[in-house]
Amino acid sequence: MRPEGRIFDVHPLVARADTPVEITVTPLFDHVAVTDGVEYEVTYYPTEEFSLQSGWPEANKPAVVRDGRSLRFRQYLEGEQEHVFLLEAVQGDQRRRLGEFRVYSVGPDLAGRFPYKGDLHMHSSRSDGREAPAYVAASCRSIGLDFMALTDHRQYEPSLEAIAAFDGVRCDLRMYPGEEVHPPGNPVHMVNFGGRRSVNALFADEEAYRAEVAALEERLRQAQPPGMAQPPGRDQSSGEQALPPGVDPYQYASTVWTLAKIREFGGLGIFCHPYWFTGHRYAPAGALTSHIFATQPYDAYELIGGYHLHEIDSNTLQVARYHEERARGRSVPIVGVSDAHGCERGELFGWYYTIVFSGRLEFDDLTTSIRKLWSVAVEALPGQIARAYGPFRLVKYALFLMREVFPAHDELCVEEGRLMRLHAGGDPDAAARLEALGGRTDALYAKLFQI
Ligand SMILES: [Zn+2]
Ligand SMILES: [Zn+2]
Repeated sequence: MRPEGRIFDVHPLVARADTPVEITVTPLFDHVAVTDGVEYEVTYYPTEEFSLQSGWPEANKPAVVRDGRSLRFRQYLEGEQEHVFLLEAVQGDQRRRLGEFRVYSVGPDLAGRFPYKGDLHMHSSRSDGREAPAYVAASCRSIGLDFMALTDHRQYEPSLEAIAAFDGVRCDLRMYPGEEVHPPGNPVHMVNFGGRRSVNALFADEEAYRAEVAALEERLRQAQPPGMAQPPGRDQSSGEQALPPGVDPYQYASTVWTLAKIREFGGLGIFCHPYWFTGHRYAPAGALTSHIFATQPYDAYELIGGYHLHEIDSNTLQVARYHEERARGRSVPIVGVSDAHGCERGELFGWYYTIVFSGRLEFDDLTTSIRKLWSVAVEALPGQIARAYGPFRLVKYALFLMREVFPAHDELCVEEGRLMRLHAGGDPDAAARLEALGGRTDALYAKLFQI
């Protein structure tokens, strides 16, 4: 967090573009206090555009009004961009810089959307992770996430266990069901995020599963080669295109079937870590990965996946692939996930996450927003400045949010996460204390976002 964020109360930090906004700055400590006999001056710098109504340089010093301990000034915020306000105290010919404040203005389609942070792929001790489901959920809040799902290998129950651990307790973290789906004989990993039922459970009746996939495979075999007219009723999203050479028909059909089931159960079907290097090669095979990108049977692509430091090449490849697919004209919904196998291992957990720009922090809004390309994937490796990946305008906005807004949000989450952990560990007083803390992050956003 920049020190201004702790020393001053400033709001709003995000406002609608192409409107005048009144910004209030209140120093919280006496080393920057607003006092008599001092003039306060604000210099305004739009970081990108100043061609239209804001003008330059005439309008670069908005009038500052003193109101008790606070200073207020109005500025027309042109376009979607970051704005810098430099606040100085002027006394005679002495000038003292008090702080530099940043405000962001968003276009009409982004106004009304709030940034929610989530992790959509992680494991607990019920599969090969380290801690109990409730512990993982609590830890997610303590690192500032707004939503999460446990997605244990082949198991849906642990995600329900995490939710049940906080039954009747006020938690501002949204916890959703989930599982990592591993169809028999198919190397493609998929996440069922939020589905109402388990897809893994369907593999218990392997004969029925195999019969359905075989029927789909047969339809694929009869499909026309790409480029020729498809029979009516067959479109790209059903995946029914003739298979290019090198694509294993069963593996592809199984992938299409699984993602369709996830969707049928109301979940978001995530195509996971296509450049995972395992067994001396990438899994799945390149031809299959390419065909999945070409036909897009998934709802979201794991753009940033849970790779250890020695595996970072895989994320670089996933990002490069994303840009390549977009250059081909494809729309690619994206998520970033930690795929953490432990919150206390000092790796993966918290390194990668998704920011969804959504009207509300509710499952339908979040997943619809992801499908409609309102998300970015974040890589926040320890000791490094966080990087966001996705559509340019959202990345630009995310950089501002990560620097100016999330630190205050995340600070509030620390105590909530701690209390969630205490509650899950049996502390009888934690639930009441969580109740008292409820709604703080919502209230913060209501104050900071004038959208
Ligand atoms: Zn996996
Ligand atoms: Zn996983």
